[in-house]
Amino acid sequence: MTFKDFNLKQPIQKAIDDAGFTEPSPVQKEAIPLILAGNDIIAQAQTGTGKTAAFGLPMLNMMTGDGSVEGLVIVPTRELAMQVSDEIYRFGKNSGLKTATVYGGTSYDKQIERIKQASVVVATPGRLQDLLAGGRIKLSPKFVVLDEADEMLDMGFLDEITAIFEYIKNEDRQTLMFSATMPPLIRKLAEKILKEPKTVAITKGESTNKDITQHYYVVEEHERDDALVRLIDYKNPTKCIIFCRMKKEVDRLASHLTSQGFKVSALHGDMEQRQREVTIRGFKNGSVDIFVATDVAARGLDVNDVSHVFNYHMPFDSESYVHRIGRTGRGGKSGEAITLVSPNELRTIKRIEKDVGAQMVTQSIPSKSEVQSSKQDELIAQIASTKITEHAIEIVKTLQHEIDIVAIAHMLASMLVEKQEIKGKEKIGFKAEDVEKLLQKAIAGRDDRGRRGRSGGRGKPSFNRSRNDRDGDRKREDRPRGDRDRRPSSGQRSNKPKSDKRG
Ligand code: AMP
Repeated sequence: MTFKDFNLKQPIQKAIDDAGFTEPSPVQKEAIPLILAGNDIIAQAQTGTGKTAAFGLPMLNMMTGDGSVEGLVIVPTRELAMQVSDEIYRFGKNSGLKTATVYGGTSYDKQIERIKQASVVVATPGRLQDLLAGGRIKLSPKFVVLDEADEMLDMGFLDEITAIFEYIKNEDRQTLMFSATMPPLIRKLAEKILKEPKTVAITKGESTNKDITQHYYVVEEHERDDALVRLIDYKNPTKCIIFCRMKKEVDRLASHLTSQGFKVSALHGDMEQRQREVTIRGFKNGSVDIFVATDVAARGLDVNDVSHVFNYHMPFDSESYVHRIGRTGRGGKSGEAITLVSPNELRTIKRIEKDVGAQMVTQSIPSKSEVQSSKQDELIAQIASTKITEHAIEIVKTLQHEIDIVAIAHMLASMLVEKQEIKGKEKIGFKAEDVEKLLQKAIAGRDDRGRRGRSGGRGKPSFNRSRNDRDGDRKREDRPRGDRDRRPSSGQRSNKPKSDKRG
């Protein structure tokens, strides 16, 4: 299935193509047709599953651009408001549909101005209720989305949400509710605000193969490429598959890795069958060591000696995770699955870990000097175990006329070392021992918001704030969802690579 199957309007389809999305995620496959058919929906989907496009695309597709606010998206935090707004903006911009982002801590007047020009408003509950209650704005949207509804109730926003629905004039609206969990309070709210909703629930993954060890590394978003190259250098896979979410990412990463000297092929879902077969044959016979692929492209791929699977980005759901890592550890062999996650994704990886019932161990990315020294040990072992050939004796004899024998040895060793050059920064990513703290911080931040709940204070702002000033505001709906802690890792060596992968 592709996005084209939804028959979306041309400017929206173009935005999807520009974003590089090829295959709809599971929640998109289920929710988009139901929304396009005019249903209210209640969808159980966590963050990272592609839920924003799941409601954003059909909603934008059905808008007329009549100058009114046609879509209202209510989200728990300022950070999410900005994220959702960016995503909706990029899908709506070709259709001339504007988006306004509304949250506490910034100027009321500017926000009201933007709302007047917008087709979609993405808002946090507190500020939205203030604006509606004070009569400063009036809204009768055709579409209302409650995003991360459980999170909003956890944070004590039930009263605000109930009040907002009283101000919304349009009784014929279509209402879409997204929530990671479905506690009784959410179901009660759904009964109140949704009309004959259709349910979307994405099934949980099967459990994973016990022969696959699973690791994850925590890195900053911009460190993904460096982390991947370092890990390939260190782990030295026989064959590996690197999974990306988008075809565009596959292309970019494949050329980046090629430029780093690896033997790489990209595997696309929209490749012709013949071309695909040739590429897979190359992977099987070893002329290519690394496959960079999307989920669709690698589905059913059966290659026996894939030693490593890398998730460059986390998959959308636990089921895809199981499918991806199942490309290694085949035929009774052992395999290793490695996932790169940003601090913001820690909660999601923990959720996948729980779903698949496997233990994922976090590790530090080895530093440059650690990889260098491990390569050196390996080189020494290789030299010591190499058989001397007649041909080599002839070469040394010839050289000996002009060069001292020790210098010849140094030169030969230098030739070999040169091939092993380790690129990149000394340290990449977060230390494994700091990951638990990062996770606790993310969870504590969330609990704290919940505890502060209704007493969190929503007074008027004393000054205006820019979009970038995210961390300064401690108001409940404006606090970031995961605290970041930026520290480089020191890494620990745990195993030695077999030989150098680069040609
Ligand atoms: P969300 O769950 O909405 O926060 O989405 C998670 C990430 O996946 C965002 O960066 C989206 O841009 C991206 N994304 C959403 N749908 C797709 C898709 N079908 N293919 C590739 N990436 C997607």
